[in-house]
Amino acid sequence: MHASTSSRVLDSALDAIGNTPLVRLDRLAQEEGLKCNLLGKVEFLSVGGSVKDRIAKAMVLAAERDGKLIPGKSVVIEPTSGNTGIGLAMTCAIKGYPVIITMPNKMSQEKEALLRALGAEVIRTPDEEPWDSPRSHIGVAKRLQREVPHGVILDQYGNVNNPLAHEHTTGPEIIATITSTASTPTKPSSLKVDAFVAGAGTGGTVTGVSRALKKDHNPQCIVVGVDPIGSILALPEHLNDESPKPYVVEGIGYDFVPQVLSRDPIDVDHWVKTSDDDAFRAVQRLMMTEGLLVGGSSGSALSGALAWLKTERGQKVAQAEGSNVVVLLPDGIRNYMSKEWFLDFALRPGTSRIPQTVSDA
Ligand code: PMP
Repeated sequence: MHASTSSRVLDSALDAIGNTPLVRLDRLAQEEGLKCNLLGKVEFLSVGGSVKDRIAKAMVLAAERDGKLIPGKSVVIEPTSGNTGIGLAMTCAIKGYPVIITMPNKMSQEKEALLRALGAEVIRTPDEEPWDSPRSHIGVAKRLQREVPHGVILDQYGNVNNPLAHEHTTGPEIIATITSTASTPTKPSSLKVDAFVAGAGTGGTVTGVSRALKKDHNPQCIVVGVDPIGSILALPEHLNDESPKPYVVEGIGYDFVPQVLSRDPIDVDHWVKTSDDDAFRAVQRLMMTEGLLVGGSSGSALSGALAWLKTERGQKVAQAEGSNVVVLLPDGIRNYMSKEWFLDFALRPGTSRIPQTVSDA
């Protein structure tokens, strides 16, 4: 990890990936009656705007090392819900690789615009196609790999460098920040990560961070995975609907279990299901009370964390002064500015804190 990215001239934007802050969510914690420290890992402050910058860089560098990606020759193709695509397009803009991204229709126009601005080609696919259909974003990427000369899929769903990027960067950053922040009478700290909460898409984040926390830091750390209602990643299985259903939040949940997601209870202790409504309400709370301009899946992670903290095991952590609960906030509202769920609350009258008499004047 770099000591600081502002103290030296960076070789490229790739050096400004990660090294994101942990931010106290004190006002939310107080509203919820929590005695623990509630902390957000703010990933929209990574240079490409999301937690997925880390894996894009790691997968490209590893593929170059392995001779799988050849500068001046290879074409990078990737199925993604957008953020991995943005990370890859950014990395490949710097390195000079052409990029083709396949992405389901439901993903925001903002993501497509950013991908195209970074020089990528974007192909949209129908939302309702199951993952193993030739018309899904995964199926279309596979076909393109066969058709495009020197096409390479780095495959975030199966690439070990996805969870490893989090085991080597996201996790160690959290540990370093928690252990180097002193416990004080006004802000007591156990100096440990007592619980970690993250949504799962590919599952790379929750799996990799969990391994770093439990192996190198605190074997007792409780890791909570968050899965949207309509997805099938949660365990035990009865938490999920019998078949996949549509939902609005982007970047988390799937209709298949990606290879890089460990559902082993050694890695993920508990799962929580979250609704779109709860997620978007939580985004609004993060904006209105903590000033954090996060995206939809950050709301899922927060609402999942708050739900888990109300369970019997969660209460023990929630009511222990100084215990540290870290919630991963994967991206920012930049990706969703035109989405109805955001405009609904952002432009709704009555959200201003200015007293009514003043705004009427
Ligand atoms: N939130 C958003 C907005 C994402 O783009 C992703 C990545 N699909 C995630 C959460 C989940 O991350 P992971 O793939 O590491 O599980």
